[in-house]
Amino acid sequence: MKLFAPVALVAALALLACASNGAPVGEGAAKATAGDRAAPHAHIPAPGEKVMLSEDEWKKKLSANQYRILREGGTEFAGTGKLLRNKKDGTYRCGGCGAPLFQSETKYESGSGWPSFYEALEGRITEKLDTSHGMVRTELLCASCGGHLGHKFPDGPRPTGQRYCINSASLDFESEDGQLISGD
Ligand SMILES: [Zn+2]
Repeated sequence: MKLFAPVALVAALALLACASNGAPVGEGAAKATAGDRAAPHAHIPAPGEKVMLSEDEWKKKLSANQYRILREGGTEFAGTGKLLRNKKDGTYRCGGCGAPLFQSETKYESGSGWPSFYEALEGRITEKLDTSHGMVRTELLCASCGGHLGHKFPDGPRPTGQRYCINSASLDFESEDGQLISGD
């Protein structure tokens, strides 16, 4: 029996390692092994509900790329977003807090290189004047967590004439059968 004890110990440690891999961790190790699947948000904010996390908590919750875009107002390279060409039916959610932001019916191909929508879900997005980089633009933020999503331009299609130009990395997509895909 003595010979088998170390084997049992190694097996137990391996099991523990697997269990800890299941926990959501910062720089997407769990995401990488789970393919495109995103960890479901434990709580989906109701309309008007605010999500307040410290910067350290956001760093733990988000990948480095998501943090740079959602919390620091960054922009992903055009044409690179995972959800850019996604044509499935479902709901686009905030990658930070899970709040629903857009329905797939309002997504269209703008040619900009970023996921584009002509309408947002009511009350889910906050607009802010952005005068950075020598331009006057309308910045779009998640109304629940304040995460940076992208910008709005008045060159969209009917019926609104608006283009919500959104970083894929700021989004999660939930298909109608409940599969959650990270846009990061
Ligand atoms: Zn959010």
